[in-house]
Amino acid sequence: MKVLELVSRNERPPSVVEVAGAAVGRRLTVIAGPCSVESEEQMVATARAVKAAGADMLRGGAFKPRTSPYSFQGLGIEGLKLLDLARRETGLPVVTEVLDPREVTWVAEFADVLQVGARNMQNFSLLSEVGRSRLPVLIKRGMHSTLEELLACAEYVLSEGNPNVILCERGIRTFERYTRNTLDLSAVPAIKELTHLPVIVDPTHATGRVSLIGPMALAAVAAGADGLMIEVHHDPEAALCDADQALTPEAFASLMTRVRPLEEFLGAAC
Ligand code: PEP
Ligand code: MN
Repeated sequence: MKVLELVSRNERPPSVVEVAGAAVGRRLTVIAGPCSVESEEQMVATARAVKAAGADMLRGGAFKPRTSPYSFQGLGIEGLKLLDLARRETGLPVVTEVLDPREVTWVAEFADVLQVGARNMQNFSLLSEVGRSRLPVLIKRGMHSTLEELLACAEYVLSEGNPNVILCERGIRTFERYTRNTLDLSAVPAIKELTHLPVIVDPTHATGRVSLIGPMALAAVAAGADGLMIEVHHDPEAALCDADQALTPEAFASLMTRVRPLEEFLGAAC
């Protein structure tokens, strides 16, 4: 089999992925926002709050991959328009998930980064399609996937001519049920050994518990992650998706007062 030559580290310097003003791989990039886009009030309030707390990008799903077909599936095109509105209000670039290869072209019109979710990590036609897009792509590690499989997915995107890939560790499934998933923290330095691509950590889906997000976010920074993706909702109890794991804007702001000094301390230490 041909080696994964495009993603392989091969003594290349670490790649920096430029995203509309933010540069993933240069300094710690914090992506925050709700699990799903629900309303104008929710998006604008949350976007303003995360921006004020120092987030670099806004997240929010307009197309949600839900385990049950009866759960809220996202607002679709209306959600994309609300993301665009929140982007114009705050200037924050937007990360949003695309579920279907047929929708890549028009989701790309509203997004700054296309997210391929954990459940779709090995959707090879989707990977090829985002590889033909001009936008950066955030690939979340599948909950049953090895690092080699994750890298092979990134290779699909690079081999289509799109070099702007960011990887995301978001927890894998183990026998432990206290946490929603198990954060594979060693994946961060391991990915950095294996590839030049930047890697971020999503402590929200990795733990599924508000109380554990802060400690795992700080641990991810200490492990060398290039960024964090954290779910924040202006009114978590009312969230239509992943309500148990959303930080309030206040909790997020408080976490950021620990994340940025840790980043600086580590930067000064190397
Ligand atoms: C998400 O980011 O909202 C999401 C669904 O994440 P994952 O694909 O990691 O489960
Ligand atoms: Mn979510």
